[in-house]
Amino acid sequence: MSERFRTFAGTLLEANDALVSAVDPMGMEVILPVSLQQSLGLPEHAVLAFSGESADGWYRVMLESDWLERFGGLLAEHGKVVRLPLSASAVVAPSNPERVLEHQLRLNNAVYRLQGVEESWTRCILHTFRYSAVSDEKRDGLVWTGRNLSNGAVLDEWVDVLSSAARAELLHEIAEPGKKRLALEHCPEAETEEEWGRLTQRLVPSVVHRHLHAFLSGLHRRQQRDLDRLHGYHTDLRQEVFARMAAARKKGEEKWEEERQRGKLRLEAVAREYHAKAADLWEKYALTIKVEHTQSVLLESRVIRFRLLIKRRKGERLFHLDWHPTTRQLELPPCEAGLPFGAERMVCDDALHVVSVDGLASCAGCDKPFCRACHPDKCPRCGRWHRQRQGDASAGDHPI
Ligand SMILES: [Zn+2]
Ligand SMILES: [Zn+2]
Repeated sequence: MSERFRTFAGTLLEANDALVSAVDPMGMEVILPVSLQQSLGLPEHAVLAFSGESADGWYRVMLESDWLERFGGLLAEHGKVVRLPLSASAVVAPSNPERVLEHQLRLNNAVYRLQGVEESWTRCILHTFRYSAVSDEKRDGLVWTGRNLSNGAVLDEWVDVLSSAARAELLHEIAEPGKKRLALEHCPEAETEEEWGRLTQRLVPSVVHRHLHAFLSGLHRRQQRDLDRLHGYHTDLRQEVFARMAAARKKGEEKWEEERQRGKLRLEAVAREYHAKAADLWEKYALTIKVEHTQSVLLESRVIRFRLLIKRRKGERLFHLDWHPTTRQLELPPCEAGLPFGAERMVCDDALHVVSVDGLASCAGCDKPFCRACHPDKCPRCGRWHRQRQGDASAGDHPI
């Protein structure tokens, strides 16, 4: 880690006009312009130490210190959107495309025909989101989503492999500039606003909840345990009151009346205390989850394109899926309604959208199925809304 941290710090300082030279063991001599001296709180000439061993006068730079914040300040928004090219060298198509396709494309209510397999280019976008869940405990983490921008296909499980390959390729590209690339005129450079909205409002929240499954189960368990304990304690208190009243009854009408009055007040006090403590527990276990978009990587990549014809009743539609040489996998078909997806897809009658099973589910109002890609907001028959209206989302940087 120290070596990687030194490399990162050196690259960042050089990008901000510092002169940098590695000094062993795990040190770095720097000459800083005035702006860096001010923002990092260092003199013009300094030696930074990236391990426990350092000579007198060296500045120790550790992950546990405030140096991450200082470097974060320098980084600011730089690198939030990165464009990386993948290899331009020729790729070999899989030997049995039909079988590859059968494995990855399952249409429940339509058929398809593979029309051809050819080399092509595409752009893929890989997003990183950071989440932070706070209740009586805190949990942070990262989730990734990836899309082929030419068709919306799903690359979530390969984000790591694709971005590592692209970074390695970038270093190679710097060493060998001028490599010829094919044009990508017909492929978008980013999602549409609508697609971005669906991604951040539907998909990312569902992925984050999946990541937090164990954390949420633990939280609910602790909350239930505390509520049970509280309820048990106050039930005992109530039973004591009733036992006292029953004993007084045996001692005659006068004693019984006295105890009954006392008991009534006591029961009211127990109920008040119970409700106040239960409200405290709800507050203690209240959960806030925030999600923040941290980085997007745009990859330009050579692919093997599977050209398909999808048929549903009398309709036909040309469609494609790409096989990615880096992962040696055919991507997962998209859900064009932007819903969380499983492996199966359906095709709608009107526009032959490829959607997940939920994308053609029955309406909760009139029980008739309809396509959520054709009708993203409400049911065309009964008008029932099936998603948050524009502007209903909470404020902040893509919070859930
Ligand atoms: Zn309806
Ligand atoms: Zn549709």
